[in-house]
This record gives sequence, C-alpha cells and structure tokens, in this order.
Amino acid sequence: MKHTLTCVECPMGCEIEVTTENGVPVSVTGNTCPRGKLYAESEVVCPRRVLTTTVRTADGRMLPVKTSEPVKKAELFSLMRKINVCHPTAPVKIGEVLVKNISEGADLVAADNLS
Ligand code: SF4
Repeated sequence: MKHTLTCVECPMGCEIEVTTENGVPVSVTGNTCPRGKLYAESEVVCPRRVLTTTVRTADGRMLPVKTSEPVKKAELFSLMRKINVCHPTAPVKIGEVLVKNISEGADLVAADNLS
C-alpha cells in the first residue's frame, strides 16, 4: 500500500511516499533527510502529536499546557479526560510537570507561567 504525506518536521515540507506491506513500512522516498524518513514511518504506523490545550486552575484561571513528548493520536481523547480533571494551584512555572507520565513517558507540563 502506498501512502503520500507531507513531512511537517521542518518548513521545507517534502512530499514523501511510504510503501507498506502488512502495515510495515518497506520503502520511503521523497525525504530529503533522515528525520523525514523517521517521521513518515511513524506517521503510517502510529501517528503522534504533541497535545496542546488549556486547564482551569484551582482559582478559575486558564493555563496553557502541553505534553512534553508527542503522544499517540489515538489516545488524544482519553488523555483529554485525564487533563480535564487537572486543576493546578498557582504559582506555576513554565515547564513545570503537572501530571507525571500521562502517557508512555510523556508528562503534562505548563506551557506558561502563572503567578
Ligand atoms: S524530509 Fe527533512 S528536509 Fe524534508 S521536510 Fe522533512 S525534515 Fe524537512
């Protein structure tokens, strides 16, 4: 099976074609660098994204948060259920871990300071 996708690892946006057999990548073409090959193989087997959203703090303000690593796209809705019950208390520093290991080694971290 052939998959055509656009690499989002850098602004060049190379068009990459991945051929899979039984769900396993067997050839990658169109990438200009090794990062593109890794991205394309991951994208057709198990796509991942950094999850960015906001949480309501204990005093009712909104705080931007994100996962420290890309997480499986298929997990995004279940992760949002975990994130929606997180209500950190100020002060919070950017990068502070709010939920350790929310998914396979990725933490939920603050994406901004809150005094
Ligand atoms: S393949 Fe390499 S050069 Fe092309 S968009 Fe991806 S990261 Fe950039």
